[in-house]
Amino acid sequence: MILIFFCFDCNSILAFFLALGVVCFMNKFALKVMTLCYLMVFTSFGAPLSLGLLFIPHVVASPDFASFPSIDFKDFSDFILGNFGATISLSTVITLLLSMTNNTELVSLHFKQAEKGGSTTWMNCLARAIKEQLGSDATQTLFSAFELSRFETTTTRNSDIISLATKLSKFSQILDLYPYNKKRKFTGTLRTISHNSIQPVLLICPRSSVCLTLGCNRSSLKQNTRSRDIPRVTLIKGTEISHNVQLLSGCCDKCGTIYYADHEHTPASEDIEAMRYFLNSAHYLKVGQNLWVNRQFSCAVLNAMYDLHASASGWTKFSMIHMVMMISRFPAAIFGLHLFMNQSDKCLMHLELTSI
Ligand SMILES: [Zn+2]
Repeated sequence: MILIFFCFDCNSILAFFLALGVVCFMNKFALKVMTLCYLMVFTSFGAPLSLGLLFIPHVVASPDFASFPSIDFKDFSDFILGNFGATISLSTVITLLLSMTNNTELVSLHFKQAEKGGSTTWMNCLARAIKEQLGSDATQTLFSAFELSRFETTTTRNSDIISLATKLSKFSQILDLYPYNKKRKFTGTLRTISHNSIQPVLLICPRSSVCLTLGCNRSSLKQNTRSRDIPRVTLIKGTEISHNVQLLSGCCDKCGTIYYADHEHTPASEDIEAMRYFLNSAHYLKVGQNLWVNRQFSCAVLNAMYDLHASASGWTKFSMIHMVMMISRFPAAIFGLHLFMNQSDKCLMHLELTSI
């Protein structure tokens, strides 16, 4: 960096701005300052024009996300077992957890109305929605036998909803989704929770787990590729993009057929050439040298081209801009792009160039 700096005709003022930008690099507020500093140092704009650029109206919609709750699993488990029914299933627990982390606005409204928790009409709405989604059988597992018998005898309306709302309120506090600080001062609406840390690891594998060649007796497939030779590709699954995804293949020891995610390769024999059979049932499709997509994405592209008359070049242009925006959001601050990005720089909705 210093070498690059001295390649330019910079004076001491610019050096000061460069140092300021480096020092403030880790600070969120410093992003604008850093942008300004580097603009001045590495371009010939000069101070007046760079300062002018800072005041050009632009919109960068970059939501400030909060990290996913980092509660210890034992504490989480103890709370679930102590507050819900003994037969509650994993899927119900995950539904409850994600319902809390995806409704931070409602949780904030609830706790603003009732600092100590309990049930409010806000939390009752969430409890009612959870009950409707789970269905009657799974909803029963949210309560102990004693609670269920009490619901049958009480004259209070919606006693199950109120009880569940109270439990959800406690659950929220355990997850630290609670908009008050230690001095009991309301800290404002909770930030949207980022779910990046709970994203699954994806690998692209053959569809079949056994060899389907006649005579091989459905033998198992072996992963024979050495670790360092396993290709790493980019996978677009729906609206999510995963990088560095391992592309695995399986080989049958008996017939030598190699099974891939989208096709099978049979070796050449005495009177038969080597053949490739593409699979109609493939979940993932190869669309570039290192780019794979799932059926949901490929269907969306084809439907848009057919129904919306979107051209192939239009899709290519959109994808290119989309990918560039994921690599860096730095230019966004300069050119005033309307962006909707999350912390991992994934473009969530759309982008729109604005004139400056
Ligand atoms: Zn075989």
